[in-house]
Amino acid sequence: MQTARAWAEIDLDALEHNLGRIRARLEADARADPSHTNARPPRILLVAKADAYGHGAVAVAHRALRAGVAGIAVTTCTEALELRRAGIQERLLLLGTILEEEAPTVLELDLEVEVPSLEHFRILERAAGRRGREVRVHLKIDTGMGRLGAVPDEALELVAAISSSHHVTLQGVMTHVAAGRGIADPTGREQLSIFDHWLNQARERGWLAPTVEVHAGNSACILSGAGGRYDTVRPGILAYGVPPGPEWELTDYQPVLSVRTRIVALRSLPTGATVGYEGTFRAARDSRIAVLPIGYDDGVDWRLANRGYVLIRGRRAPIVGRISMDYTTVDVTDHDPLELGERATLIGEDGDAVIRIEDLARLTESIPHVLLCSIGKRVHRVYLGQERGSSRPRVSAEGPSRAR
Ligand SMILES: *Cc1c(COP(=O)(O)O)cnc(C)c1O
Repeated sequence: MQTARAWAEIDLDALEHNLGRIRARLEADARADPSHTNARPPRILLVAKADAYGHGAVAVAHRALRAGVAGIAVTTCTEALELRRAGIQERLLLLGTILEEEAPTVLELDLEVEVPSLEHFRILERAAGRRGREVRVHLKIDTGMGRLGAVPDEALELVAAISSSHHVTLQGVMTHVAAGRGIADPTGREQLSIFDHWLNQARERGWLAPTVEVHAGNSACILSGAGGRYDTVRPGILAYGVPPGPEWELTDYQPVLSVRTRIVALRSLPTGATVGYEGTFRAARDSRIAVLPIGYDDGVDWRLANRGYVLIRGRRAPIVGRISMDYTTVDVTDHDPLELGERATLIGEDGDAVIRIEDLARLTESIPHVLLCSIGKRVHRVYLGQERGSSRPRVSAEGPSRAR
């Protein structure tokens, strides 16, 4: 960390705290939902695609599994391979779907995989049949997302085909909700009512064993109160302590990630001097500028130029001039004299001040998911609170032990 120009601090205790909050919410909603048929609160499959939204999938998965999640969801075989190589033997669900040539890897790594169409079912059946293996699948129903999934009628055919297959086992049935407000949005409610209607039809025809795991809940669904309805949920962004959209204000979750760097140069520029490419900032007074060795390759959004700010000694320093590939320049004229090597915070807390990723999303007209995923490879991931010498799950099936 001392030698890193820029680093991300990943607070794994905060991750565990957030998983505890999610679990408490699911328990409360499962109790309150009269349509919920399970006595058990839903299981959590933590979504850790895209390197756990930039947090580092291996460390996140290890800690989440120790905290009691049922499995990890990723998107690509490469991501799954990384987790298996890191010794993770628990359930891995491949979200989305696969190309035909990926089917052998799915079998080798013992992945569960979404099946969105009859063609994908056939690919998996052929691959599993050839190896005399079984593959567990989650039938994906498109209830309005319009991306992957079988429309309800196709899905009835598909579930029938799966139930007569020798090599493909129906592990789950799932859908994905498009609205950032989940069921607080009418389209979200509509999607889940299409899903419920489909589930009833499939059950009436005897194609859904009680052991089949039903799931729909992403972060927005959980926050909007739909998390307790089915057997399993798939939270991503919420587990990282970040709201899934601008509608949500999180009060009892903790951001897991902070991004920091250190001042690499300090400049004094006279009135009228310009800073950065294209001279988009011109000093209106004699100014002191701190140069930070972090740029858009590291995930500093280009749109923060002359708009964003960082925190140094607990107070804001406005970003001036364009963001470069490797550098960001900030105005520290109003700070007490600073020294080379001092810490600057781009995301996270510094003293009493804080910059949340959702603040940056608002400033850049982006969404937190995008900003998290753009944190670059050069930013070292530093894990805090990782090991405390206990492998005992602290979030038990009975409930979170650290719920507040
Ligand atoms: C990414 C993803 C999720 C998690 O979404 P969040 O909004 O981050 O909670 C859940 N399900 C599927 C299918 C996904 O692709």
